[in-house]
Amino acid sequence: MELPLPDAERLITVQHTLLQWYARCARDLPWRRTRDPYAILLSEIMLQQTQVDRVHPKFQEFLDAFPTFSALAAAPLAEVIRRWAPLGYNRRAVRLHQIARIVMQELGGRLPEQARALRELEGLGSYTANAVACFAFGQRGAVVDSNVRRVLGRVFADVIGLDPPPGRVLDRFAQAVLPIDNAYDWNQAIMDLGATVCIARAPACSRCPLAFVCVGRPLMARAPKRLPRVAEGVSTYTTGAPFEHSRRYYRGRIVNRLRALASGASLSFEELGQGLRDDFGPEDHAWLANLVDALQHDGLAAVEAAADGPRVRLP
Ligand code: SF4
Repeated sequence: MELPLPDAERLITVQHTLLQWYARCARDLPWRRTRDPYAILLSEIMLQQTQVDRVHPKFQEFLDAFPTFSALAAAPLAEVIRRWAPLGYNRRAVRLHQIARIVMQELGGRLPEQARALRELEGLGSYTANAVACFAFGQRGAVVDSNVRRVLGRVFADVIGLDPPPGRVLDRFAQAVLPIDNAYDWNQAIMDLGATVCIARAPACSRCPLAFVCVGRPLMARAPKRLPRVAEGVSTYTTGAPFEHSRRYYRGRIVNRLRALASGASLSFEELGQGLRDDFGPEDHAWLANLVDALQHDGLAAVEAAADGPRVRLP
């Protein structure tokens, strides 16, 4: 399938205008003040499922505790899980710790620079690998999340449609519209525009720097209800508060209980269950054992044998 592309003159106008806007209005985010691959990777993993505002303070705190791959790899996993609070989605802490150990033990202390090699590290999907390759190593690659998809779909609605499906065609289009020599700023700029101006439900077109070249704006104004609204970035800009009493809710509560214990301390299943639910009884043991099994599988809990029955602790 032939790749649709915008007219060259219009593309240059869009690139120039957006980069100028970014130079004036870029969000001041701490991970933009560094090119340290470790810090950039940390920020991208934190941002995978947590809002920018919540990542902001935690990012520096975590860096203070574990400033390098070497420091993180040498730390006990339990300590890393403790330090991850209150971000949630705790498997990210386990994966980050695993990556640090691989980097130190197998990769000579350095992350690979190319997105393709980064993708081979467990826990790094296409988006995160592209982001690290661009933001840490200056690789010229497009970084496409839901915000970027929405902005590109709106600005170039005549070329790729207001609601372009994620996938290869969109990725290739995003790559094709990258400026030749400023991929870093372009990727950050388009994410900023999607997060602060061209938001899903109510784009602020009246203060958008691209309003004069955006094809989607008049289309949306003509039929506001029927036109698609590509969601806010799922990975980067949502909180995803757990539904109370869902499996995820209890997983989070178990990890929180284990985190609150002193180093090396543990809980019996009974103690753990009673801290989770007032009505916890013998009939709930299988339910709790299943949750603990899954946490153990994910590297977030350890079960040890004791004279009075199994006990649960952080790994
Ligand atoms: S003009 Fe409106 S729809 Fe177009 S990019 Fe700007 S905010 Fe989005």
